[in-house]
Amino acid sequence: MTIPGFVQVDVDGLWAVRQCYGRPESGTFHEDPCWEEGVPRLEVLFRRAGIPAGFFIVGRDMEHDRKRRQARKLVYRGYEIGNHSYTHRIGLTAEPAGLVLQEIRRTDRALRQLGTEPAGFRAPGYDVDSRIHRMLRRTGYLYDASVLPTYLGPLLRLASSYAAGKWLFWRRQFGRISYGRAPRTPYFPRRHKIRKHEWPEEIPDLLEIPVGVTPALHLPLTGALLLTMSAPRRRDLFRRLADKRRPVLLLLHAIDAVDCRQPIVLDNRRPRMAGFAMSGEKKETRLRSILGEFSRYFDIQPAGEFARKMLTEG
Ligand SMILES: [Zn+2]
Repeated sequence: MTIPGFVQVDVDGLWAVRQCYGRPESGTFHEDPCWEEGVPRLEVLFRRAGIPAGFFIVGRDMEHDRKRRQARKLVYRGYEIGNHSYTHRIGLTAEPAGLVLQEIRRTDRALRQLGTEPAGFRAPGYDVDSRIHRMLRRTGYLYDASVLPTYLGPLLRLASSYAAGKWLFWRRQFGRISYGRAPRTPYFPRRHKIRKHEWPEEIPDLLEIPVGVTPALHLPLTGALLLTMSAPRRRDLFRRLADKRRPVLLLLHAIDAVDCRQPIVLDNRRPRMAGFAMSGEKKETRLRSILGEFSRYFDIQPAGEFARKMLTEG
């Protein structure tokens, strides 16, 4: 029970999720079940199970009064709040430095106004590079949690294109193939080659907490995968991960707790994968057992505190 585990939620609004699949917002910034249904359902699950989860918020959503009030409630209840960019633009590494810095800083300001001090960042679509790390250091962040250590990026982009019914293959999503070689445990990233661990000569100033992946295939440990697995297979997966005795980051999205019997993400399509067609009730039951099983093997803690400890104690 001493292996650290992290449970984090990317609070992508429905508008951001639809953007990922090449769909227009169509009013989903204002009428947003990810915030109205997904976040509260997850929060209750975490509260009842005593799970100190982290919520990664997209800055733009804080322009919306109701969402901002909800975010404030999360802060009040003691959850860690992380930075998930301002506009959830996929492909940050291709953008000019000024724009990227703005994506980070505007969100940072919006989150500070909630009364919290964000310590972690996750790039939309796991698209991160050394330049983004440099900006995070400059902005005073303690950790990045964007590296997806898998070679399956192209395959995941194909799967996402298949689900969307659109060719989205060339988007900078699901990381770079070279990140398949990145450590699968929290590490101090080298300044110019962030997939490499390096003991810093000076005091370390940024920790990378890579997104968890399955041991053999290196599939990302996300709700999309876990919601569709049977309970015995899931338990077996967590046990195998725990056997490696490395900290693991389990990543959920707000949409993982939203009723998707209506095709709200893809309008006319409802592929039978990744919870695209699952009811809210079924998702809730599954999430409850996922969290129960995960906390049996891992000692779930806020990643910000973990990063602070690692940076001061090494
Ligand atoms: Zn996201």
